Amino acid sequence: MNRSRRILASLVATTCLVAGVGSAAAEVDPSPGSPGAGDRYFPDYGNGGYDVIHYDVHDRVGFNRGRLSGRTELRATATQSLSRFNLDMMLKVTAVKVNGQVAEFRKTNRHELQVTPASPIAEGTDFRVQVKYAGVPKRLRWNGERPWLGNRREIVAMGEPQMAAWWFAANDHPSDKATFDISIKVPKHKKVVANGELEKITKGKSRNTWHWRAAEPMAAYLAFFGAGNFALERGRTPSGLPYVYAVSRQLNQRQREQSFNLLRTTPKVLTFLEKWLGDYPFSSTGGLVTGLEVNFALENQTRPTYPYSGGKQSSWLVAHELTHQWFGDKVAVRNWRDIWLNEGFATFFEMLWADNYGSATPQKWLLREWGYYPQSFWQLKIGEPGAARLFDYPVYQRGGMAVQALRHRIGDADFKALLRAWLADRENGSIEDFIALAEETSGEELDGFFRAWLFSSKRPARTVANGLA
Ligand SMILES: [Zn+2]
Repeated sequence: MNRSRRILASLVATTCLVAGVGSAAAEVDPSPGSPGAGDRYFPDYGNGGYDVIHYDVHDRVGFNRGRLSGRTELRATATQSLSRFNLDMMLKVTAVKVNGQVAEFRKTNRHELQVTPASPIAEGTDFRVQVKYAGVPKRLRWNGERPWLGNRREIVAMGEPQMAAWWFAANDHPSDKATFDISIKVPKHKKVVANGELEKITKGKSRNTWHWRAAEPMAAYLAFFGAGNFALERGRTPSGLPYVYAVSRQLNQRQREQSFNLLRTTPKVLTFLEKWLGDYPFSSTGGLVTGLEVNFALENQTRPTYPYSGGKQSSWLVAHELTHQWFGDKVAVRNWRDIWLNEGFATFFEMLWADNYGSATPQKWLLREWGYYPQSFWQLKIGEPGAARLFDYPVYQRGGMAVQALRHRIGDADFKALLRAWLADRENGSIEDFIALAEETSGEELDGFFRAWLFSSKRPARTVANGLA
């Protein structure tokens, strides 16, 4: 993202005893899945006891009253023997089925949907869930936010760290990735863009259904859709990657042309980033410039959303969101506390992209920034910023500086090898994983370096060890 700048009744004893005494083999008694994924910052985000494999979302959106109704069908694998499990869903739920059978459900609070299937789900088995829901997402507040973005003409379902539960039944935590089919039904004169590739448009009398498919696994917060009056441009990049550029018709013609020009920088920026980060990780690309007044851009997988930038050629923002396709999307944060792995690298490559155009060298930029900020800037420990300050300015700026300092400390060859090794074949990671890999790749002891840059409330001393001399 770039901003302009939370049981449990223990099981009934008799059930356990019967199963326990009966089979000496390791039959595990079914128990409730946790109502959270274990994230210290956001204990109710995500859920325990299963991994989602695939989401099939079918929503219908209305523009006048802002109503959304639909159903999410998901396939998941039980990671424990489940007597019940939770999903994250802000809207009112009207029906739930598990493996085709009607299931009991209740909202334990606005955010948490507790589902009790007719029979327990054995560990290691796949199961299907269908959830039907309806409501007005813009009215719904959680964790002090009302994140829904939309007006009578346009809707963009995107947000970080929360938005998924406002439009589909989700295991909303970056540690659980799944593939997606996203089908959105809108009035005939509206268009829909979402992640991945457009499968088909099913035409109805007054409404059309736009079906998009994201073939590569993604975190729930990176799933998005935009619905409105959009101008679309589709094609293939010089390297053969299908793209979709969408620009809101709420913008005037001159603004639309500027916005398309911004989106058209995508292939060039990707080519630049691939030199550092390896092949682009997904099978399509593109972007949406929204006409809504939003104060942030977001790295939706394959298709970031940008606010209208006022006509400046701000391709640094494209570089930021496209860097996230590797740092954030391909390799997700293990927990929200690891946000530096997203924003630090996106800010660093933003700056490197600008350097590519000759404005300053990265090390000059680092030293200038190091000398520029007052003590208050350095107070935030960006390796542990806290939930309320997850997207504060130092997470970005000190974060990007830390990456350049690391590059300077271990040298370009090791730095590049580190990036490639980090991005090679992991779905998510923590700061500690990254530090261990950095030490392994460089053969250097880097605890002091990372303490100074990520876990200290002071400006790092200007030393060789801190990458500053
Ligand atoms: Zn970002």
